[in-house]
Amino acid sequence: MVKQRSIVVFLTAVSVLSGCGLGPSVASNTPNSVSPSAKLETASMLLEDLAAPRHPSDGGGRAWLAGEVAPVAVGRIGRYEIVFEVGPHGITLGGAVYLLPSPFWGWSGPQTDNPDLPGYTVVDTSADGVELEAFTPDGQILIITIGGRALVHGERLVMIYGAGTAGAAVDRYAERASRLWVAVDGDGDGIRAVLPDSPVVPVAAGPPARIVLTLPSVARPGEPVRLTVAVLDSAGNAGVDFAGEVSLAVTPSGAQVPSSITLGPEARGLGEAECVCPETGSYRIVGRTESGIAGASNPVIVSQDGTRIFWADLHGHSALSDGTGTPEDFLTYARNVAALDVVALTDHDHWGVVFLDQAPKLWREIREQTARFNQPGRFVTLLGFEWTNWVHGHRHVLYFSDDGEILSSIDPEYDTPPELWAALRGQRALTVAHHSAGGPVAINWDFPPDAELESVTEVVSVHGCSEAADSPQPIYSAVEGNFVRDALDRGYRLGFVGSGDSHDGHPGLAHLASGIGGVAAILADGLNREAVYRALKARRVYATNGPRIVLRFAVGGHTMGSIIEAPGEPVSVFVRIDGTAPIERVDVIRSGGIVASSPGDGRYELTLTTDLEDLKARRVRLCAGGAGGRWRCVVEPGVC
Ligand SMILES: [Zn+2]
Ligand SMILES: [Zn+2]
Repeated sequence: MVKQRSIVVFLTAVSVLSGCGLGPSVASNTPNSVSPSAKLETASMLLEDLAAPRHPSDGGGRAWLAGEVAPVAVGRIGRYEIVFEVGPHGITLGGAVYLLPSPFWGWSGPQTDNPDLPGYTVVDTSADGVELEAFTPDGQILIITIGGRALVHGERLVMIYGAGTAGAAVDRYAERASRLWVAVDGDGDGIRAVLPDSPVVPVAAGPPARIVLTLPSVARPGEPVRLTVAVLDSAGNAGVDFAGEVSLAVTPSGAQVPSSITLGPEARGLGEAECVCPETGSYRIVGRTESGIAGASNPVIVSQDGTRIFWADLHGHSALSDGTGTPEDFLTYARNVAALDVVALTDHDHWGVVFLDQAPKLWREIREQTARFNQPGRFVTLLGFEWTNWVHGHRHVLYFSDDGEILSSIDPEYDTPPELWAALRGQRALTVAHHSAGGPVAINWDFPPDAELESVTEVVSVHGCSEAADSPQPIYSAVEGNFVRDALDRGYRLGFVGSGDSHDGHPGLAHLASGIGGVAAILADGLNREAVYRALKARRVYATNGPRIVLRFAVGGHTMGSIIEAPGEPVSVFVRIDGTAPIERVDVIRSGGIVASSPGDGRYELTLTTDLEDLKARRVRLCAGGAGGRWRCVVEPGVC
């Protein structure tokens, strides 16, 4: 693990086949086994909701916004007048209309109690003899019950959300179309359905507050490279109101970089410049706006050889589940703002307001946009979804072609990891377990990751770090013994990736708003789906919690991800870091413990070469022990 101030890299593992063998061990494969923090109530609630019969009048009618709606900037307040017109099946006496402003990321909950507080909502109807009663039982969803008489087709309600002095606070993340959901229980049985075309409102970025400069991590001497410049608001939202010059300076000198670039108002803070570094070395570019917003790029390592590093964010969400923005906005941000090389939008299969596994139109939109943005050699997009299983833990599924199905985690056919893998077998697909040590739900490691389909695991994201209890920024609600290092102790052979798991519409830059995110460095021999698949399968990947730190790592001359025979003599370990901040320390971890460590000396670079003692002499064996039949790793010299 490389720690730089709050910046962390997770070293990739080289699995060593010792004489004793460290094959995957199945602690228990009993069907009764579940995640140590399984959310069984959530799982059954989703199943009950799915099974609940919808009356034809549920979800009937249409809703729209009265008048022109100007964008409101994040952190500001809005006032929205929503008109609802009853559908052909009417709404019975005792039925209800619901108002649910996007429940994600900061919208005021609607309320009818206090005009001086945010979210105050006034409801009214011109339908004679109809009495409305409005209340908010959970602070999030406004329920308007229909009294007096039934509502008939064409009659209208008006809801003014943000009607009081405090208005309604909008989402903290910018997006073109945040939903003000309207739902209808037409027959009064308490079961509602949402209007899929509920009104949308625009949320604009805040004022310019930060600048992100991104270079590729590896270049050849004399090769033109793209510098991506993004002026963003404080939460990393793009689309800021900005025009002016950004001055550029390179360190060390010797690289050909324009002294400035000018961004017009139509650029909304985004630009590119071409740079050439004729000589080998490590370069960074500092950018500064006229108003003094400054930032430094990641390092570009210019060398004749050196494997290319492609940056990926393989896990994130759009407003089609519980995230922000459209799939198109997500992919555009990944390419044009975060300058990612590889991205996957992985919306939840069955989580959010409208569920992807019940909405073929939404899944088609994701498939089409993913295919449209894929541009081999420039920008690789992967089709994916999140298998949001509350019993065994979450995994995301990545497809390496334009086609792929949603295999829903609540479908009895695919609701265990082995069933999911069985359904994917034979396809160009991978699964990735995430927030495995805790967070919303921990992974059930009793199912060994499938050897064909799960070669890497996500060690860090906005939820925190799942590597080990002693890692910086550990995940919340952590379950002792369920970290990735514990999984390695079971004999599982996994490469490490970081992912944003962004819900803010900022793939690749989720750490800007959250303080911790994740990206994956992929050492692929080309920028296309097949090369990315091969690199992930071979574990030629490493994780960071957001910054694009360059890591070179080898054991006995073997590259990261390799499986090697224990050589029977001391073996050399090579680590080279080019950081984005002065390096504090590098630790090399083997079998859960630090076996070599080197402090930084205030510089951004650090090289560590060390000999590890004979790997064969440190016999490693797996013993059952601890509470609950958990496996632990015992080191016993000389005993196999
Ligand atoms: Zn998840
Ligand atoms: Zn997720």
